[in-house]
Amino acid sequence: MDDDIDPTASPGLLERLEQGPVICAEGYLFELERRGYLQAGAFVPEVVLEHPELVAQLHREFVHAGSDVVEAFTYYAHREKLRLIGKEHLLETMNRSALELARGVAQETGALFAGDICNTNVFVADAASRAAAHAMFDEQVGWAAEAGADFVIGETFSWGEEALIALESIKAAGLTAVITLAIHQEPSTRDGWTPEDACKRLEDAGADVVGLNCIRGPKTMLPLIRAVRERVDGHVAALPVPYRTHDEQPTFQSLRDPDYEGLPGGRPFPTALDPFTCNRYELADFAREAKEIGVTYFGVCCGAAPHHIRSVAEALGRRPPASSYTADMSKHAFLGTDSTLKQEYQEYADRL
Ligand SMILES: [Zn+2]
Repeated sequence: MDDDIDPTASPGLLERLEQGPVICAEGYLFELERRGYLQAGAFVPEVVLEHPELVAQLHREFVHAGSDVVEAFTYYAHREKLRLIGKEHLLETMNRSALELARGVAQETGALFAGDICNTNVFVADAASRAAAHAMFDEQVGWAAEAGADFVIGETFSWGEEALIALESIKAAGLTAVITLAIHQEPSTRDGWTPEDACKRLEDAGADVVGLNCIRGPKTMLPLIRAVRERVDGHVAALPVPYRTHDEQPTFQSLRDPDYEGLPGGRPFPTALDPFTCNRYELADFAREAKEIGVTYFGVCCGAAPHHIRSVAEALGRRPPASSYTADMSKHAFLGTDSTLKQEYQEYADRL
């Protein structure tokens, strides 16, 4: 590694974290699925090759809404996922294209450019799967490093050990690492580690930011984040899904919908979560509470839309470009307060 610091270089993730909170919009799979360009089930980001302009546009929308990071859409663009759909030959092209798209939007907007790796779905904590996961991480991290990523996100690991292996790959490439764990109904990793112990191990092994993402909504993630914050010394990340999870159904996979019986598979996950979606104000509440706990790296995962990101940004005192369009009801014909509005309309407001 070259230790010379380039004075013209823009600040990296750690410099930005020293200056204040960093926001990273996630949730590309769900958003592009909703828009009709990605198939739920296998969940492979083929849209990167099929409709690259839409991926670039979504990157832009998230930055416009307040994301400080453009996260390359390489989530699930790994060897096991591509094997499953019979397209392993597209692995490298898909990764390099996704990285190129993210790099382009980061350059255009001044946002940070992040590579991304995630759970391999082959790891089962034995020697063979350790080696397989390591090789999968190495190839994806290698492409991210070659593309010039500012840092690499390793996310949604339900095995602490798999997260440690991902971290090892990122650190071997000399890159800054953000590692976030996915905590399912049991409040522990699949290795049986508490989230705070797992995060502590990751921090001790060199992770620059540790925390949790995906799976849990704000209400059921924040108590775990509080424990993580108490246990680790460095930066803590919290990126919940924007769904109303609660004590009895703490994950978005465990949510059940008493108001609709026709769900394929019997559960709202992953294509019928709409009635559980948090509103933008709940995301603002989340951001404020997480900040109070001591979180410094914020975001929203599967289910996130730009209005959620804008709310997080505004709750943290930011005013991203999308804030020009933040609601101002004073000029609403019936509900507004503007003195030039017809009084008859305001009087009718209660009958709307
Ligand atoms: Zn997610």
